[in-house]
Amino acid sequence: MKLIFEYDEQNSGHLSDEDISITLPKDLTRTNLPLPNVSEIDVIRHYTNLSKKNFGVDVGFYPLGSCTMKYNPKINEDVARLEGFRDLHPFSPMDCIQGSLQLMWELEQQLKEITGMDVFSLQPAAGAQGELLGIMISKAYFKERNEKRTKAIIPDSAHGTNPATAAMCKHDTIVIPSDSRGNMDLQKFKQSLSSDVAVVMLTNPNTLGLFEENILDICDLAHKNGTLTYCDGANMNALFGITRPGDQGFDMIHLNLHKSFSTPHGGGGPGAGVLGVKSFLSDYLPTPRVVKQESKYILNNTKGKSVGRIRSFYGNFGMLVRAYSYILAWGTNIRKVSEYAVLNANYLLTLLKDVYELPYDRTCAHEFVISSKKFGEKSALNIAKRLMDYGFHPPTVYFPLIVNEALMIEPTETESKETLDKFALTLRVISDEIKENPELVRGAPYTTPIGRLDEVTAARKPNLKWIHPQKNHDNENLQI
Ligand SMILES: *Cc1c(COP(=O)(O)O)cnc(C)c1O
Repeated sequence: MKLIFEYDEQNSGHLSDEDISITLPKDLTRTNLPLPNVSEIDVIRHYTNLSKKNFGVDVGFYPLGSCTMKYNPKINEDVARLEGFRDLHPFSPMDCIQGSLQLMWELEQQLKEITGMDVFSLQPAAGAQGELLGIMISKAYFKERNEKRTKAIIPDSAHGTNPATAAMCKHDTIVIPSDSRGNMDLQKFKQSLSSDVAVVMLTNPNTLGLFEENILDICDLAHKNGTLTYCDGANMNALFGITRPGDQGFDMIHLNLHKSFSTPHGGGGPGAGVLGVKSFLSDYLPTPRVVKQESKYILNNTKGKSVGRIRSFYGNFGMLVRAYSYILAWGTNIRKVSEYAVLNANYLLTLLKDVYELPYDRTCAHEFVISSKKFGEKSALNIAKRLMDYGFHPPTVYFPLIVNEALMIEPTETESKETLDKFALTLRVISDEIKENPELVRGAPYTTPIGRLDEVTAARKPNLKWIHPQKNHDNENLQI
């Protein structure tokens, strides 16, 4: 059988009806096509009603810690929809796509300036993929130097993707506990620095929302041991224009453009986990690389020591356009993003810390972690569910794992004082409700399209059928 989608040079890909009947096996062809018979208004209502069952940052406050669900300015969308970007084909000849190559080149320069790194690859499609690339580069670097290093040091406050990445690259992970101030325990770190440690992976500010106070010492000690330093910069939005991981001593960093740089995020959509490195690691970056030669931009495919391609083409180009637009919109004022993010988080923290427990009582960065431990087991979950009744998306709960009944809150820079006040008041009201009427909070939410789910069953055996209103659906786990 001939594959009909195969590119045929003579026929330039065009197939006649005859070709199709010859090439398609009978059991794969249709004899009839039963399309639903619905009017335009029925379709409109169906999709409009579906959209109203969803919650997004355009609908209400979305204080999801670590994941930075920040507002995506609409200017980014306007720019990404310009024909020259939108209709671009990845195989276009270089002469026809000079503007797009220039955009990628300039974005790289901006990211270098913001982070203090020397070179960036825009290819990785997610934060986790940026990490994977970083550790692949670290492996290639040590292989070339004939050094056998097989361990990664990671603090216990790290995002789960860090140890997962280390494991994928066949590294053993050494977990370092956090000290009483929420930093990586420096003594334990020193003791773990043996000659077979390839890399230390740190998030700064860490997932407790705290700036790592010993960062200079950590990088210094690692380098003296011949160990590379990797910064998980998914949440770089606390540091813009204030301090640069490159200056702190990091050799590599990934950024999540779909968090810090306001490109869409969620629903498993396309992301961009760009990776920046210091110049001594630049030869290992994936190809192709956008290079400027006099006034022209070209794609350099020279393999050399490159670890190879990590994703098709140049990464998620549409995300690069949006991040570029975001950076240009702020210009040299980009420091304001971080100043407002940090101010908002500290303001909210101040409004809540007398009611909830604050395990690490320090000025926070762009996010903070409080505990609802004193309200009992499962209280963080119940509070999260009850918040939905008041029109808020719940924050991240039970992460990081080192805080019991953790609520991890990140307001981001765009929220107004009114929204923050309303959110804080709601969390205070819920804390009273738990004391006065615990059953009420345990049964929440009541106002959402679906109520409390058996979450394990809902995830493993989702029931997506429409439920007849007269049918008793007590046992159904998901009704839409
Ligand atoms: C989100 C996040 C990641 C993972 O990024 P993905 O794009 O989801 O793969 C890694 N580290 C930190 C600190 C994060 O917040």
